[in-house]
Amino acid sequence: MSARPPVVRIAPSPTGDPHVGTAYIALFNLCVARKGGGRFILRIEDTDRTRYDASSEAKIFEALRWLGLRYDEGPDVGGPNGPYRQSERTPLYREMTETLLAKGAAYRCFCTEERLEELRATQRAMKLPPGYDGFCRHLTPDEVRAKVAAGVPHVVRMSVPKEGSTTFHDDLRGDVTFENKTIDDQVLLKSDGFPTYHLANVVDDHAMGVTWVIRAEEWITSTPKHVLLYRAFGWEAPRWTHMPLLRNADRSKISKRKNPTSLIWYRDQGFLPEGLLNFLGLMGYGHPEGKEKFTFDELVATFDIGRLSTTGPVFDLEKLKWLNGEWIRSLTDDDLAARVVAHVERRAQAPTPEDAANPVMRRVLATGADDAFRALVRRTTPLVRERIRTLEEYASIAACFFHDTLPTYPAEDLVAKKRTPAETRDALARVRAALDAAPSWRAAELEAALRALAEATGWKPGDLFTPVRTAVTGAKVSPPLFETMEILGRATTLARLDAALPRLG
Ligand code: GLU
Repeated sequence: MSARPPVVRIAPSPTGDPHVGTAYIALFNLCVARKGGGRFILRIEDTDRTRYDASSEAKIFEALRWLGLRYDEGPDVGGPNGPYRQSERTPLYREMTETLLAKGAAYRCFCTEERLEELRATQRAMKLPPGYDGFCRHLTPDEVRAKVAAGVPHVVRMSVPKEGSTTFHDDLRGDVTFENKTIDDQVLLKSDGFPTYHLANVVDDHAMGVTWVIRAEEWITSTPKHVLLYRAFGWEAPRWTHMPLLRNADRSKISKRKNPTSLIWYRDQGFLPEGLLNFLGLMGYGHPEGKEKFTFDELVATFDIGRLSTTGPVFDLEKLKWLNGEWIRSLTDDDLAARVVAHVERRAQAPTPEDAANPVMRRVLATGADDAFRALVRRTTPLVRERIRTLEEYASIAACFFHDTLPTYPAEDLVAKKRTPAETRDALARVRAALDAAPSWRAAELEAALRALAEATGWKPGDLFTPVRTAVTGAKVSPPLFETMEILGRATTLARLDAALPRLG
């Protein structure tokens, strides 16, 4: 709790798509770094070669960049404490293992997989907690030397004291104590020469000058092992904050079976980085004024560790959509249009089968985002900005502007409320005539013409506009009708009405 600037880090393992939990933890790390004028490091923990996924690392960089979670040091940006991939640091872990062996804080274990399996079976049968029984801890130095000389494969384990307890302070929980007898003699170096998470994590946090570890709660049972390692090395341990896990609606740990977890998915669904970041901030932190919409800078400005939430926040997709909609509405029209274009362009690089049925996507797939496309997006975003919650929703609500053929819809959607198809048909014919007679094709004028027609025919304006909306936009929900007609133009609007009339019998 010193006043020196904090050095924090995230240490994701490249094992799949970058996870929302990684962004959540990164956000609070970055916040602490910025608040305290410190540094934020990205380290890739890729020593588990069985779970390694070669494409994952690049996706982690990409997702963090998309969210604006900028790290001061990392594999792709460099820095004074590199390399930032654990697979490139293995000599250090071997050296540090030798240090622990020399101090008597670790020992070589030659137990075979078969012996360990038998041990586990016995423990299961006797209902004992699983864990190594310390068999090799008691080998004499001569026995160890002989086995090493004979090339017997082995791991290196940590010598955990069997008596007493280990306590550390957690920012959100206060003092946390583990009985040492419950702590396993953890493997530190595997027989393939790669370190385990525990060794590499502690060695690197120390080597990189990390002063404050902010990570997910699921690591809390690892922390006593880490504390013991810091002690064994004679190093000062960092400050600890274990953040509550994000949860599915049923309060289980967030999982992709119940909730999308990939950051790439959120980007491809058209969430704004500002929206997702704000949402993740909201999940972990209570704004002092109870504000729900806040920027990263506001989070930093008001941040106080005591305001971190201590119970697992539920990841509510509907709430995220709402918040994202708020962010969409706070963008300028130019900015929103540019983001819509960038979004559909990116989506068009990997189209889905449904995209063939969407006029916006079809258009981009056919012509790319050419100037005409961009201009139309720019003209139409002011009409839809109140109606979309994600950039992706633009393609459905604004479809009416991009039809290359006539819109399709069920004929019954044309029939006005409490009217017959024939009555609706007559009304629609008069609408067509009134529009055709409008002296100029301006929204206000078109609206005035149809309101006058409603008045003259005794139709409620809303009832009259419904079939017009269906005919002109192909949908029951659309951008504002008259502005839409203005943008579509006279010829297109009238052609769509002409196509609708015969469908009413
Ligand atoms: N490699 C661990 C992970 O995948 C790091 C945990 C930690 O921050 O210590 O999240």
